[in-house]
Amino acid sequence: MTPVTTFAGQRVALFGLGASGLATALALKAGGASVIAWDDNAEGVSKAAAQGIETVDLREADWSGFAALVLSPGVPLTHPAPHWTVALAKADGTAIIGDIELFCRERRAIAPGAPFVAITGTNGKSTTTALVAHILAEAGRDVQMGGNIGTAILSLEPPAASRVHVVELSSFQIDLTPSLDPSIGVLLNLTPDHLDRHGTFAQYAAIKERLIRGSDLAIVGIDDGPSRAVADRRGGGLVRVHVPRDAALAAEALVVRDGSVRDPAGATIADVAAIRSLRGAHNWQNAAVAVAVAQALGIDPAAIQAGLESFPGLPHRMEAVRVRGRVLFVNDSKATNADSTEKALTAFRDIHWILGGKAKDGGIFPLAPYFERIAHAYLIGAASDAFAATLEGAVPYTRCGTLDAAVAAAAAGAEASGAPEPVVLLSPACASYDQFRSFEQRGDVFRHLVRALD
Ligand code: ADP
Repeated sequence: MTPVTTFAGQRVALFGLGASGLATALALKAGGASVIAWDDNAEGVSKAAAQGIETVDLREADWSGFAALVLSPGVPLTHPAPHWTVALAKADGTAIIGDIELFCRERRAIAPGAPFVAITGTNGKSTTTALVAHILAEAGRDVQMGGNIGTAILSLEPPAASRVHVVELSSFQIDLTPSLDPSIGVLLNLTPDHLDRHGTFAQYAAIKERLIRGSDLAIVGIDDGPSRAVADRRGGGLVRVHVPRDAALAAEALVVRDGSVRDPAGATIADVAAIRSLRGAHNWQNAAVAVAVAQALGIDPAAIQAGLESFPGLPHRMEAVRVRGRVLFVNDSKATNADSTEKALTAFRDIHWILGGKAKDGGIFPLAPYFERIAHAYLIGAASDAFAATLEGAVPYTRCGTLDAAVAAAAAGAEASGAPEPVVLLSPACASYDQFRSFEQRGDVFRHLVRALD
């Protein structure tokens, strides 16, 4: 745990008692603050009370004595409407911050030079964060990984000069961190997302850019226009990372060509072309960014290459589950929209595609250019009718209804096909909520069904 000493002796209001909220309350208390916590959800409140946290309905609290309101990132700050605690704090002039802000202040107070890598972007945050942490750990560094991935930041060990914190940040977390100052700030990419929570794309992009502004060294993926503009505004202390779609070369960038990561002089620093856990151009962006971070932290090229090669990948993101005879089974349950599924469809051929669930706007129309890679589609869940209409006449399909029926049919179809290396791919392009609790549960069920095939 990282006790938060910067609020010692002060009263702090805290709203949101999920895993990170509870960890934050405990860290504030351990550092000597007096925390008054609440949640709209009674279960969170009773869990916190059981851990010795003082719980008071903040509607009834005296706001004049609070040094800050610490908010969980899931609680709306601005859109669609500010949460009631935000309105109360603003009426009283109380600062509204999150757990990442507490970490930044603690780092400045106890170990200002401690390496702190903060990673954001619309897509690829978790993969890149896990990959950076893996490369550093394999190279023998003391690494603490958390934030928006896995462990709440204040549950990690405290910052120290010989310890690297590798932290994934969502736009919500950045929004609650006014003094964000990582030693290395990473922006992978920017595409419209979470606009319901940020109002406009410009507002969302501006929040992400703040992570780069406050960093000593910025590493920016320049494959999309908005991110390139962020890099252009940055000035010095910048590494650009580019995975060009065509032969164009950005001379000043770290460039990935055919899977080989090259420095601005054209020398190869790492090669990811044959690494199975890093398939696809999107993962090459993640890998090149991780290479840039590792280089900046002084990891030698051989150790970087070894770390890339031993990266196991993350579950549910093009996760190779099993090879059965000639057939590869891939769990890409995290692909909850067409954009993500596109990444998997470009990475394979002779695909037996399991898709469906609760459809997103636009459905699978944008995937039509990849239909020639699909041998057969197996439809599940609520989107079946809509997806069948899109596939009609272009891709043969079977309505399977449920995931277990789809796995059985796809396994049989792939095995019976004449293709040398067919792939059964769960990449649903849909949310899971019509049949599952979460994309994780959907992927776990798929993995279990595939392993149970004899
Ligand atoms: P995040 O944590 O930002 O949601 P993940 O690493 O969990 O990102 O990847 C989620 C999905 O996003 C992947 O399954 C893939 O489809 C897509 N993706 C991953 N990396 C990138 C990238 N660099 N650019 C575009 N899409 C990506």
